[in-house]
Amino acid sequence: MPAPLRHGARRWTNYHGTASANLADLVELINSTADGARAALREVAGDVLALMQQAREVGIQIRPLGSGWSPSPICIVDHGWLIETRRVNRCFQLVAGDVAPGIDVSTLMLVQAGATIDEVNDSAEELGLSLTTGGASNGQTLAGAAATGTHGSVLTAGGIQDHIRALQVVTPSGIFWVEPSQAVMAPDFVADTGSIILRDDDVFAACLVAVGAMGFVTALVIECEPIYMVRNIQKRARLTRGHITQLARGGFRDFSREMALDEDPYFVQVILNPFDPFDKDALLRMLYRRAFDPSIPPPPRPLAGAGYDALTLIGKAMAGFDLFRADILQLAMRAGYAVQRDIDDPEAVATWGHTTEPHNPIANLFNGSVTLARDDLDRAFDPMIEAFISGGGGTVVTLRFMKRAAGLLAPARFADNVVIDFDGPRSDVSHRSYRAVITRLDAMGIRFTRHWGKTNDLDAARVAQDYGDEYQRFRAAQRRLMPDPGDLAVFGSDCLVHLGLI
Ligand SMILES: Cc1cc2nc3c(=O)[nH]c(=O)nc-3n(C[C@H](O)[C@H](O)[C@H](O)COP(=O)(O)OP(=O)(O)OC[C@H]3O[C@@H](n4cnc5c(N)ncnc54)[C@H](O)[C@@H]3O)c2cc1C
Repeated sequence: MPAPLRHGARRWTNYHGTASANLADLVELINSTADGARAALREVAGDVLALMQQAREVGIQIRPLGSGWSPSPICIVDHGWLIETRRVNRCFQLVAGDVAPGIDVSTLMLVQAGATIDEVNDSAEELGLSLTTGGASNGQTLAGAAATGTHGSVLTAGGIQDHIRALQVVTPSGIFWVEPSQAVMAPDFVADTGSIILRDDDVFAACLVAVGAMGFVTALVIECEPIYMVRNIQKRARLTRGHITQLARGGFRDFSREMALDEDPYFVQVILNPFDPFDKDALLRMLYRRAFDPSIPPPPRPLAGAGYDALTLIGKAMAGFDLFRADILQLAMRAGYAVQRDIDDPEAVATWGHTTEPHNPIANLFNGSVTLARDDLDRAFDPMIEAFISGGGGTVVTLRFMKRAAGLLAPARFADNVVIDFDGPRSDVSHRSYRAVITRLDAMGIRFTRHWGKTNDLDAARVAQDYGDEYQRFRAAQRRLMPDPGDLAVFGSDCLVHLGLI
């Protein structure tokens, strides 16, 4: 197998153009072409181990890189080695002999860390499987998306990391196969991948949303479900304040009956015009589960969500206007949902994989979000919108709903969560408005968390406060995985130290 490519020292900037670093080296992992999954995992992990050991020896920090999609600086490292994983992207079917006794292999899949969500979706469909949930776009790597707790708006699911059943993790001291205390994979499978078994519930839970602070993930076993389809309804609608109360109470069926179909929705996303949330149209996206029907062809283009970038461009244009902002944004929202798929659109049924969209950046975006207990949405809504507007506002405000997600550091830590995205053009105004929201929630004594991958203004004290006992358990699990402080130091980028994660 060819050695990793060393591209040398350079300045590197993330996908969003929001964070950059002077790298000592940009290293590109090259994938194994070995026939079997076991050999492929062993070879790649061996390369990563050699890099980790070299880094430790010369006292340099490394940072694993997924797609570099996180706007926050969690995927950069100044004067260190950035290690690209995108070529390490094979997906494998598992067979009964690979797993521990009693484990149902039929819905499991083995995925290398650098596979994008799009690639995972494609491979899953070939095996007759589907992911249960995921984010709005599909260009993130599986390991990178899990590392930040990436989520969508499936009402009965947590985040993307909830699919993970086991991980191969490399530290400078070795290659580990991390599982919960109950075995998932067969011992000979683990040995053939060159890994040492580490069965520990908290180490596993820490690795699920690790923000890159629990070693270098090289492969993951994920649990999918038998392939299904979703009916996609995407439309403009006028909401009342009562609908916010209804959503806060989990009245999704009633909401759906009024807005779309008289059945339990699988997914509900609401995009609001914060300048006039109830006298201007909102954009709704509701998905409903359907049995897989192989006779339904894939849609020519994915059944995509709102064009956030288009909205953001308009947001930039309207930043200078005080008057008519609600109307200008409304025009942009109409353009963003130019294609409506209402209840009479028979063609809006597709597999899960065809409902997420690729992404081509056309605008400089600001992304910030808060996650709170869904119950708190009712009392938080008006003060939050008022605070957002008082800072100047951004563009749209999006409500997404999800269950508690797996992982000690999962931002969705309440039994039922609402995630509120405050999007806008990348400007001081958007950032100031987001800060105003945070300040208002704190003043009201409402508990909330923030997305690791988005602009979040977090620091170590706040992370420890937000995650409490789970934060302490994360740090203890980290010491069990990397008892030698020299191993941990290899992962100690400025950003992770600032967050108190190293
Ligand atoms: C267009 C767009 C749409 C988005 N939509 C959503 C959404 O709908 N919902 C949502 O929740 N978020 C969303 N996000 C945020 C995005 O999902 C997260 O920032 C995600 O973490 C990015 O994945 P990545 O592969 O680019 O990881 P990166 O940004 O490259 O890395 C994220 C973290 O993971 C670590 N990491 C990466 N690979 C590994 C590895 N192999 N081993 C150990 N650590 C690793 C990195 O060091 C870093 O700390 C969106 C972002 C964009 C740009």
